[in-house]
Amino acid sequence: MQGAFAEHVHALDAVGARTRLVRTRDDLSGLDGIVLPGGESTTMTMLMERVGLLEPVRKAIQSGLATLATCAGLIVLASDITDGMSDQQGLGLLDVSVRRNGYGRQAESFEASLKIDGMNGHEFPGVFIRSPLVERTGDVKVIATYQGHPVAVQKDRILALCFHPELTTDLRLHREFVRLAGQHA
Ligand code: GLN
Repeated sequence: MQGAFAEHVHALDAVGARTRLVRTRDDLSGLDGIVLPGGESTTMTMLMERVGLLEPVRKAIQSGLATLATCAGLIVLASDITDGMSDQQGLGLLDVSVRRNGYGRQAESFEASLKIDGMNGHEFPGVFIRSPLVERTGDVKVIATYQGHPVAVQKDRILALCFHPELTTDLRLHREFVRLAGQHA
């Protein structure tokens, strides 16, 4: 609907996946996975609600659609949102509490090397842009932290990140998402 979707298309092309932009509920049919990109979570959920996508996307993810959520996408998935718009609704599918723009003004954007569980090789370049701060996690697996806070979590086939792998040339997380999507297929 909004945000950094083109960069995800590019990254997914690079790992050999076929992509389609989802703008109506019909676009959901036959997908093995969905990306909820970075951008502005308030705008995204408002637009999803307006075009009647919020419920169909919720149902699809609930029934096991592989999901890669980055930054605003993680906010859209979260069960609790702090510092959102008063009427900000989300999908409520990921048991985490997030504070929008929780890394504060001075640090609105920064890069950090991240050690991600189960990922071989060098650390992952984490690009954080006005990222949400995960303040609580429930029934999810934390797979990376930065300064003591979770920045990557997984729940079954949902991979949710506070940072933007699509803005780097490191394709390992997109590959992992495609692997999860293959399990769904
Ligand atoms: N601050 C944005 C929001 O609240 C997220 C920023 C991002 O996706 N890079 O939606």
